Amino acid sequence: TVGAVARSGEEFAAATSTGGRWFALAGRVGDVPQVGSGFYAAPAGAASATGFGEDIARVTLTRRAVRHLESGCDAQRAADRAVAEFAELTGGEAGLIVLDADGGAGSAFNSDGMQTGVARE
Ligand code: ASP
Repeated sequence: TVGAVARSGEEFAAATSTGGRWFALAGRVGDVPQVGSGFYAAPAGAASATGFGEDIARVTLTRRAVRHLESGCDAQRAADRAVAEFAELTGGEAGLIVLDADGGAGSAFNSDGMQTGVARE
């Protein structure tokens, strides 16, 4: 997966790409193209996800993270909470990157590793 979240002024954007999954059934629609699963952006912030798509879609992981922003969490806390809930609800592995409206960036994952970077103007 390559995911990105960005902010310009008051506007947020999120994008997610994927190489897919090994042995996926023909016609499988994973989390990546589903709003609120692989990506989500709103006035409160944005999130992009990686990991096991069926589980990510089941808990609408990026919508969940942005909901935490809307409830007052900063980006790191929103990412931590969403991934912790994801792990508890699904037992699966995933990672998230999150931006909040105060300019904060956060990330969390429960898989072996996930590379992240932050660029500021
Ligand atoms: N989330 C993707 C999928 O399940 C896999 C990935 O790129 O992380 O299709």
